[in-house]
Amino acid sequence: MLSKLQKNFKFLNESSDYKSDFDLSIYEFFHSKNLFSNGVPSGAPELMNAISDCSQCYYGLQIDSYVNGCFHDCQYCWAKTDLTKSNQWNNPMPVPIDITEFWKILYTIFETNEPHALRAIIEKRTPLRIGSLSDPFMTMDKKYNVTLEMLKILNHYDYPVVILTRSHHIVEKRYLDVMNPKLVAIQISLPSLNEEFTKLLEPGAPSPIKRLEALKVLSDLGFWTTVRLNPLFPIYPDGKYSRNIESDFSTDFFSFKSIETLYEYGCKSLLTGFVHLEDQVIKLIENKTQINLYDMMSNELKEEGPGFRYSNSEIRKYYELIKEECQKFNIEFTTCYLGLGEPYYWKDQDLWDNKDDCCNIKNRLESFKTDTQMIPIVNRLEISNVEMSYFQKRLHSFWQSFKSYFLKKIFESSK
Ligand code: SF4
Repeated sequence: MLSKLQKNFKFLNESSDYKSDFDLSIYEFFHSKNLFSNGVPSGAPELMNAISDCSQCYYGLQIDSYVNGCFHDCQYCWAKTDLTKSNQWNNPMPVPIDITEFWKILYTIFETNEPHALRAIIEKRTPLRIGSLSDPFMTMDKKYNVTLEMLKILNHYDYPVVILTRSHHIVEKRYLDVMNPKLVAIQISLPSLNEEFTKLLEPGAPSPIKRLEALKVLSDLGFWTTVRLNPLFPIYPDGKYSRNIESDFSTDFFSFKSIETLYEYGCKSLLTGFVHLEDQVIKLIENKTQINLYDMMSNELKEEGPGFRYSNSEIRKYYELIKEECQKFNIEFTTCYLGLGEPYYWKDQDLWDNKDDCCNIKNRLESFKTDTQMIPIVNRLEISNVEMSYFQKRLHSFWQSFKSYFLKKIFESSK
């Protein structure tokens, strides 16, 4: 199994313009601990917006440097929720992807004329998202260097990247040396500035103050950096802002005043998305914080079914209030619909300061010229090897386009 990696590595070092000094012996360590029971995880980027709730995503081409877990272990993380069901989360630790496969894909596309399923997307330098299901800047990368190598390869091929992280390690010199502010957009997740709550909900992640300090460094260095206030946890029970319902109950996980602090640390762009949780996560959070989020839900939504969510009108009020705060400090505002459902992509666009991109990178970084929304749905299905007949693909494509058109019209006419 590992001989394939060694062969790839030797071939690439001889054939590619990029030369690597990556230490392949890390794979022997994981192999010796039986952590590659299904083989070394693939190093091929995936297109996530083919058939899923994120079909409107601009940056659906994604890869993680490690898989099967993340030491930050955020209680609400949907990757954790999903992989815990199959006993794959941090069991016992995240494992590295095949970095030679990743390099080989970029080599094949940029240095040869050989066919490749991702050629049409990667050749156009469609931005790649890193850090969706595992934080690329976990402390373990100090030892294994997979994220560092990935950044070196991407930098060599002048490839635009969106990085999502909760870690201050991103500002270490070795990473900064291989990240070009013209190519790299960074999103620092900071759902709360409350140190105590953060320790309970994101037990393995660096503290908010360390993330703020990293934000300042990145911002001063000229990186286009967005703060992800995501997931946004409510402060009061549903109805407080939209229906003036009074209640003694409140949390201080989030505070509107935190926007000023973000500004002081150089925040110029903020993206938020309201929390939506499955039942088992609500119990996990209650065990940690002694707060039962169900107590904050409206009776109507409680009756409707499982999970934690808020009414549309209340979510909208939170967004409006945060935007108001952002405007005081010249911080650009957008919302993320992921986790809430596709209608939210259309619903809140009037609040976005960048109407062309909910991640607020397009028109801000010149290298971000294309995106995965531009890829026709039929092509997305083909690239992602979705098992559907030609007819089913056409039908799905038609349905998606119809749905988007319909939702867009509904929300346009309601404004
Ligand atoms: S840092 Fe991201 S990937 Fe890691 S546990 Fe937290 S939410 Fe999940």
